[in-house]
Amino acid sequence: MRYVTYGKTGLEVSRLGLGCMRLPSYEKNGKTVFDEEKSIALIHRAMDLGVNYFDTAPGYCDTLSEIIVGKALKGGRREKIFLSTKNPIENDSGDDYEKRLETSLKKLDTGYIDFYHFWGITLDAFINKINIPDGPFSRAKKLKAQGVIRHISFSFHDAPGNMAEIIRRGEGEISSLLCQYNLLDHSNSKDIDFAYGEGLGVAVMGPVGGGRLGAPTKVIQDLLPGKLHSSAEVALRYVFSNPHIHIALSGMSSIEQLEENAAIADNTAPLTPDEQERILGMMKENERLAGLYCTGCKYCMPCPQGLNIPELFTLMNYHRVYQITEFAKKTYAQIGKVPWMMYKNAAACVECGVCEDKCPQKLPIRKQLKETHKTLVV
Ligand code: SF4
Ligand code: SF4
Repeated sequence: MRYVTYGKTGLEVSRLGLGCMRLPSYEKNGKTVFDEEKSIALIHRAMDLGVNYFDTAPGYCDTLSEIIVGKALKGGRREKIFLSTKNPIENDSGDDYEKRLETSLKKLDTGYIDFYHFWGITLDAFINKINIPDGPFSRAKKLKAQGVIRHISFSFHDAPGNMAEIIRRGEGEISSLLCQYNLLDHSNSKDIDFAYGEGLGVAVMGPVGGGRLGAPTKVIQDLLPGKLHSSAEVALRYVFSNPHIHIALSGMSSIEQLEENAAIADNTAPLTPDEQERILGMMKENERLAGLYCTGCKYCMPCPQGLNIPELFTLMNYHRVYQITEFAKKTYAQIGKVPWMMYKNAAACVECGVCEDKCPQKLPIRKQLKETHKTLVV
């Protein structure tokens, strides 16, 4: 395993981190059951392979992830790794923030969290709910002084540019962050450069596209013909070739997947400048194709019915342009159910037409939303 110094924390972290949001599971009577034994074996194998950064959250795996991770870290393993979890900022109460932390500590059966994240925040949430007198940020600083939180972190789900502003407003108290970055989505790259420059540790989620690049498609395979063993390889190499990213966090569900990703993290050289140029050229072409459908400019927003039109079209483009239909369908099914997708799906459109008047591309939004729903609903 390769290791890297995690920004100003000075800690040596593994370049591959285990995201514990898709722990091994099976289906029983139409329900997903998380397999504790296999999950613990996966975490132990990750440690054997040198992974030392483990990321969980209260809601992962039907709220079981923290408990399973806690059990896996028994027997002297806890001190050997860095544990990351998150606080869903449901309101601006410092007391509630502390209560949620206590619940996580109890579930994880530990006395401290190495990297404690404000979960999936926006700049607006940081200003109005977190960084207020006696609010979550001031409690986090107090708990850090007490050693319960070793490092204050945040995970980010907002428009590009706002991440840098959160860091500025954190006034040097924030040690690391977690954000989306992968072959298909490098919208955060400028903010990542800024964060790195400020000495923050940078972990990215979805390096293998949240699983969407897991199954090779021709579009992805064409990125590096001849040299590519799997889509995971090109996706991880792409992330590792960015010198401003420390950890690629991947949600892995099997030992096979873990071993493949660990081998890539271990052995793969960064992309050569030629390879990088080729990939960027292909990605630009794919983005151009995606832009023919929707450029993501957001001029059509807000929709009075609560649809996130550009996000819905992004999912449709995963199907149309990148051929990663299975991922697009799975993600579509999560709309309205996960904190970062709290909007309505395309079926909620009442065809008022307000959005079409504002779209510079003159897209037939209503017609395309119908097509999106028909294609992606399962
Ligand atoms: S046409 Fe549909 S998507 Fe557009 S603004 Fe009206 S309800 Fe929203
Ligand atoms: S205005 Fe048109 S191009 Fe821009 S995000 Fe909305 S649908 Fe896409």
